[in-house]
Amino acid sequence: MTTTNGAIENGQPDKKPPMLPKPATNLDIQHRQIFINNEWHKSISGRTFAVFNPATGKKMCEVEEADKADVDKAVEAARAAFQRGSAWRRLDANGRGRLLHKLGDLLERDRVLLATLESMDTGKPFLHAFLIDLEGCIRTLRYFAGWTDKIQGKTIPVDDSFLCFTVHEPIGVCGAITPWNFPLLMLIWKMGPALCCGNTLVIKPAEQTPLTSLYIGSLIKEAGFPPGVVNIVPGYGPTAGSAISHHPDIDKVAFTGSTEVGKLIKEAASKSNLKRVTLELGGKNPCIVFADSDLELAVECAHQGVFFNQGQCCTAASRVFVEESIYPEFVKRSIEHAKRRFVGDPFDPRTEHGPQIDQDQFDKILELIQSGKEEGAKLECGGSAIGEKGFFIKPTVFSDVTDDMRIAKEEIFGPVQSILKFKSLEDVIKRANSSEYGLTAAVFTKSLDKALSVSSALQSGTVWVNCYNALHTQTPFGGFKMSGNGRELGEYALAEYTEVKTITIKLSQKNH
Ligand code: ADP
Repeated sequence: MTTTNGAIENGQPDKKPPMLPKPATNLDIQHRQIFINNEWHKSISGRTFAVFNPATGKKMCEVEEADKADVDKAVEAARAAFQRGSAWRRLDANGRGRLLHKLGDLLERDRVLLATLESMDTGKPFLHAFLIDLEGCIRTLRYFAGWTDKIQGKTIPVDDSFLCFTVHEPIGVCGAITPWNFPLLMLIWKMGPALCCGNTLVIKPAEQTPLTSLYIGSLIKEAGFPPGVVNIVPGYGPTAGSAISHHPDIDKVAFTGSTEVGKLIKEAASKSNLKRVTLELGGKNPCIVFADSDLELAVECAHQGVFFNQGQCCTAASRVFVEESIYPEFVKRSIEHAKRRFVGDPFDPRTEHGPQIDQDQFDKILELIQSGKEEGAKLECGGSAIGEKGFFIKPTVFSDVTDDMRIAKEEIFGPVQSILKFKSLEDVIKRANSSEYGLTAAVFTKSLDKALSVSSALQSGTVWVNCYNALHTQTPFGGFKMSGNGRELGEYALAEYTEVKTITIKLSQKNH
């Protein structure tokens, strides 16, 4: 069963025919400018950039291109909105909660439109955008709306005559740099806790997919957030993104994207003002299937785990380790699943799989597929592009993959399943951990002992047992090692958007 969060869980499939939503028609892309102080602006440079539909390769519109000068303007607005005594700072926790709930209501109202726009901009199936991305956004906003009045410090008993307590304060102006694979969801994962804690924001969406983020600007205004609390600067990474990460007046930056750019962001923070940095980066996630698992469940989860969102997920199950005795059967069933996967128009309700985001990713994936063939992996199915237009690649399965091959080491970010064989528990733990990444891992077994000992041995921020992509708003998400720093979602996210202040009061009388 696929849950509303995109999770694949053990359970009975829903027998009722679902009521499927229909995409918006004749969509007019209204919001194409820079959003600062609740107003729409042209870029200072006068430049714009083109946004394409990856399913057709056709240009959809031009968007105003922000660079350093526009980022400066946005930071000024965000700083003014954060000043002591501003409308935003005077708003109490309850007021912030109401605004976040209102924003959630507006996303619900415009869900079809936002899902349509997200599908056109990313190429992901409309139904996935509607059922998974938008559901995740709405739940995240509501979850953090509920936290605004529960952000508490501690009273700490100390030696001698002092009263000591801590308060958790907003950090200040936060930058958010987001990726193209889940443009809206990754934005809301940052916006929810940042606004919950009372910060202000400067957001740079990925240049491939700025449209839903810009639409959110109009909802921010409609919800009643004071001007300057949320500012959105569409533009390129090395210009607008870099201006955010280097900015001396930004106090924190939250980033989701590649490990390579994550390193640049940390470097920029250390070269400028040591702004706080949270990073959610790449993964080369092991999915371990023991012989005692529910085989059909494991095959289905490993399949969805790697092919979901066209393989463009940092959580992708891109190294599937299968115990020797069930290896041939697992490979056989995985091929059947991949061949059955319906690839096509993102607006066709039967479509499970759309195009890759752009030419660069398309070329990179095909080059890695080629490397798999040359390095001796067995190409079982797929392996090539399909269609005359757009960036479609067939779901691809490789067997006989070994640890030293590029397809077993590099993050592919595409529809390529690599199936490896293992002999023993100790062997597979060692191999699963021998990666520079540590984002997610999955284990399939009916043995509780095995599940727990493997979970504790794996170096990864999340371990799924007998399920995959089971992400919840309430639980933290983030990586070990080069998969990043810090955690998004859950109560843990609040720590990433607050500073802790210790207040110590000297008492004239001994209090004991
Ligand atoms: P990908 O390689 O998958 O496109 P990136 O890590 O390049 O992912 O992009 C994620 C986000 O980081 C995008 O919003 C992009 O514009 C931004 N970005 C890219 N380069 C930089 C940079 N040098 N500084 C800051 N942000 C950047």
